[in-house]
Amino acid sequence: MNFNTSILHSAPENENGSTMSPIYQVSAFAQGSAEKLEQVFNNKAPGFAYSRIGNPTVDAFEKRIAALEGGIGAIACSSGMAAVTMSLLNILQAGDEIIAGSGLFGGTIDLFRDLEAFGINTRFAETVTAENIKPLFTEHTRAVFTELIGNPKLDIVDLKSVSELCHSKGIPLIIDSTTATPYLIHPFEFGADIVVHSTSKYINGGGNSISGVIIDSGSFRFEAERYKGFKEYKKFGKFAYLAKLRNGLWRNTGACLSPFNAFMNMVGLETLGLRMERCCSNAQKLAEFLSTQDGVTVNYPGLPDNPYHELVQSQLGGRAGAILTLRAGSKERAFKLINSLQYAFSATNIGDVRTLVIHPSSTIYTHSSEAAQLSAGVYSDTIRVSVGIEDIEDLTADFAQAIERSR
Ligand SMILES: *Cc1c(COP(=O)(O)O)cnc(C)c1O
Repeated sequence: MNFNTSILHSAPENENGSTMSPIYQVSAFAQGSAEKLEQVFNNKAPGFAYSRIGNPTVDAFEKRIAALEGGIGAIACSSGMAAVTMSLLNILQAGDEIIAGSGLFGGTIDLFRDLEAFGINTRFAETVTAENIKPLFTEHTRAVFTELIGNPKLDIVDLKSVSELCHSKGIPLIIDSTTATPYLIHPFEFGADIVVHSTSKYINGGGNSISGVIIDSGSFRFEAERYKGFKEYKKFGKFAYLAKLRNGLWRNTGACLSPFNAFMNMVGLETLGLRMERCCSNAQKLAEFLSTQDGVTVNYPGLPDNPYHELVQSQLGGRAGAILTLRAGSKERAFKLINSLQYAFSATNIGDVRTLVIHPSSTIYTHSSEAAQLSAGVYSDTIRVSVGIEDIEDLTADFAQAIERSR
């Protein structure tokens, strides 16, 4: 099956032949006896007890995402940030270190600073390449975390060489694949061990639900000598990571996804292929157009002179995603350009069907120092554009008039 077919035909079967999973908008599930509830509550029998611990609609969403990414299972979370947090805290403890890219999503950079209070420190590489991160490994390193296509730096990880280095050091590679989506790449095929998505973005696609998901490839073995918490989960074999998370931090922090949002994500998921095809094609055309305009410079990995152009061909099948950044010359001109756009919404989100623009330096990166902003590719005149599915003629005309007005 190809991409669009498989999304529709790998859905779990539903009662009464319903083509979509119904929304189980309930908190608790009654079981026939105290014995049955004891078993279900402790994950010793199939079934549901309480929606923080498990819910059939959320379960259906998790199964569809796991199948789509080619993983052994998935755990849905209340937000992308919850997914990022849980994916790491499931394996870390005080004294451990993370290696990460400095061009990451602003919220993730802020999270790494928050984790310092719990004795977990992060060492940053300007961009994550095998060469750059090699010197950052220490005896305390327990995870390498980065985004496949950095948001908003738009640097792309060469998964094969980075995962080979991680595995030679006995460390898992955790990839935030939000901006790439399963439409561009299945990171497990290139050696990633754990994948996370902010499903608030392209997977939902309509900008109507905050949510995240963690998918495990099942290929990394978390040895208990190094990953202390895994001792009692050894018996789960390749399911140890998911079993530990589901029975531990995820359940106990209450990071669960609401059934309604899981349903909205499944509705969105079914058109992921169609939307991405259109968004990527629009982004490529808009970037080509903008690169001919005086007064702005454009960064898009699909342009021939972009340093990641080769990797887009070899790793992403020639599709470079649907985010681009522009530099307008000054903050004033960036604001003027944003305010002159008619069809782009000024909003802090990506992956919507609508084109969205934002000035990252004054919003998503306000908590970062200037140095941290610069290494994330955020300049005072940078505008991030999340390209939607509008007609490309309207988008190019709109950007042309806005550039003209901002001069
Ligand atoms: C938006 C985003 C997140 C955070 O997701 P939320 O759903 O907003 O919590 C994490 N990583 C990337 C790459 C994102 O774009």
